[in-house]
Amino acid sequence: QGVEAGGPGGTARLTVLAGPTAVGKGTVAAYVRAHYPDVWISVSATTRTRRPGEVDGVHYHFVDDAEFDRLVAEDELLEWAVVHKRARYGTPRRPVDRALAQGRPALLEIDLQGARQVRERMPEARFVFLAPPSWDELVHRLVGRGTEDERERERRLETAREELAAQPEFDEVVVNHEIPAAAAELVGFMGL
Ligand code: 5GP
Repeated sequence: QGVEAGGPGGTARLTVLAGPTAVGKGTVAAYVRAHYPDVWISVSATTRTRRPGEVDGVHYHFVDDAEFDRLVAEDELLEWAVVHKRARYGTPRRPVDRALAQGRPALLEIDLQGARQVRERMPEARFVFLAPPSWDELVHRLVGRGTEDERERERRLETAREELAAQPEFDEVVVNHEIPAAAAELVGFMGL
C-alpha cells in the first residue's frame, strides 16, 4: 500500500535489467517473480521454440514469424531485437504502460540491444546491468546450463564479450554472486 516506486510524484518507474548471456538474468527475474509480488514483470514475445518446462504466457509469449511481424507492424512492441542471430524477442508495450499507470514498479529482463531502444523511448527508465563475478564464471555457467550446442555456445560467448563492454552505459551494476542477494539488490534499486 502506497509503495513509492521512486519516480517523480510517486509515479512508478520502469526498470530494465540487462547483461550478458548466461549471467542469470532469467533466474534473477524468476526469483523476483516468486519473492517480490509487488514487482510487475514483463512477459516478452519470442519466435524461438519453447524449452521443456517453459509455459506459454508465463515465461514468454511464443509466437510464429507472422505474428511477430504483426506486432512490429502495429507498433505493439516497446522494443525488439534479434538475439544470438537467431530468434526475435520483444516487449509488448501496452502491458508495460498499464502496469506503470497502476503505479506498479515494472521490470523488463531484455538484451542490450533492447535496453538501448528503451533508453531512446523512455529515458526516465532505470537501467541495471547484471554482471558475472568473472569471465571464467560466465563461461562455466554457459557450459553448465547445457541447453545449447557448441556452435551456439560460441555464438553466445561472442555476444557476451561485446555485452560486457557495455557496462558503463548503465545506471547501476549488480554482480550476480548469488541469486537472492542479486534480486534483493535489484528490487532495492527499484525502491522496494
Ligand atoms: P533465452 O532464449 O535464453 O530465454 O533468452 C535469450 C536472450 O533474450 C536473453 O539475453 C534475454 O535477456 C533476451 N530477451 C528476452 N526477452 C527479450 C525481449 O523482450 N527483448 C529483448 N531485446 N531481449 C529479450
